[in-house]
Amino acid sequence: MRDLHNLTRDEAYALIHADGGALEELFDAAAEVRRQRTGRIITYSRKVFIPLTNLCRDVCAYCTFVRTPGDPRAHTMTPEEVLAVAEAGRRAGCKEALFSLGERPELRYPEYQSWLTERGYQSTIDYLAAMCRLVFEETGLVPHANPGSMTLAEIQQLKAFSPSMGMMLESTSPRLLRPGQAHHACPDKVPAVRLHTLEAAGECGVPFTTGILIGIGETLDERVDALFAIQAVHERYGHIQEVIVQNFRAKADTRFAQWPEPEPLDLMRTAAVARLIFGLQVNVQIPPNLTPDHYGALLRSGINDWGGISPVTLDHINPEKAWPEVGRLKQVTELAGFELRERLSVYPEHLRENSTLWQAPSASRLGGLADAAGLVRREQECW
Ligand code: SF4
Repeated sequence: MRDLHNLTRDEAYALIHADGGALEELFDAAAEVRRQRTGRIITYSRKVFIPLTNLCRDVCAYCTFVRTPGDPRAHTMTPEEVLAVAEAGRRAGCKEALFSLGERPELRYPEYQSWLTERGYQSTIDYLAAMCRLVFEETGLVPHANPGSMTLAEIQQLKAFSPSMGMMLESTSPRLLRPGQAHHACPDKVPAVRLHTLEAAGECGVPFTTGILIGIGETLDERVDALFAIQAVHERYGHIQEVIVQNFRAKADTRFAQWPEPEPLDLMRTAAVARLIFGLQVNVQIPPNLTPDHYGALLRSGINDWGGISPVTLDHINPEKAWPEVGRLKQVTELAGFELRERLSVYPEHLRENSTLWQAPSASRLGGLADAAGLVRREQECW
């Protein structure tokens, strides 16, 4: 087997097209890097999903989450609703409260800005920071904020009660902003804006989850470019804890309802290339619920994490794709020869090595939940 640690860009451009024997070799090399990194352990985070608002100023072609004011399904959660969902998660053994929401809707909808102002908040991020604190103090869950693009000041504001955060880079292709493309009229999906968020998180020392969304009109080489863009930021700051390789799924009632979906093999090939680009440094995840019939096979691609799984709430971004039951996830993982372990929203290596993390008041709670390896203590795991 060739040593494919820390792949060069030219090698990655070649491997993202691999087929036949070369594809098998790619999977073997990716699996070997995972073996050296995390052995037989595959992780997931037991989380509750809190969709704080489904208003958004962007209009991504594949999105079924977003609503506009006036739509009866448009909703911004009140603090009482946030607490009720978080509390249900706590009772179900969750450790993480994942806040996922639309991006900067107040800049598009004056009525929503008024809603915030009447309650004493300047912006969605301001409201989110308050809700992270509320959940942290009232339920004991650890928030993980995922509000899209953020400035450095916003990340600083959030980090006290959201010790880790996330934002999918998705793609660095500017072509996707053109009319008819996935990110047309989406100011928060401008690649430079998202890369700036990754940089700002690095400057703040926040363990950060990001990733790419494949099959939305990018070329294979552009996938490689996006992965290397993440790698370049990580080399400067060392804060990227996880890279998600997410496959586009076509949804009814969207502009991309008829857009072709990537095949599982395409997803696996891309995840294997990601595994080799990041070498021993970063965790690589594929969400299992977006490939419900085949997800055990995805382990062949060198991934070491299944992401957040909620026992109490839908995947509000992909509501038609149910999370697997954790018991089933464990069974599938073990059948493939691995052990499933619960992790926290902050990955073990960042719990051990990220000194900035421990300045946040919320970090001490993570320390209390973790074992010596940085995973959830076995007596606190729920199956
Ligand atoms: S995918 Fe995210 S940014 Fe795009 S429209 Fe939906 S909520 Fe907004």
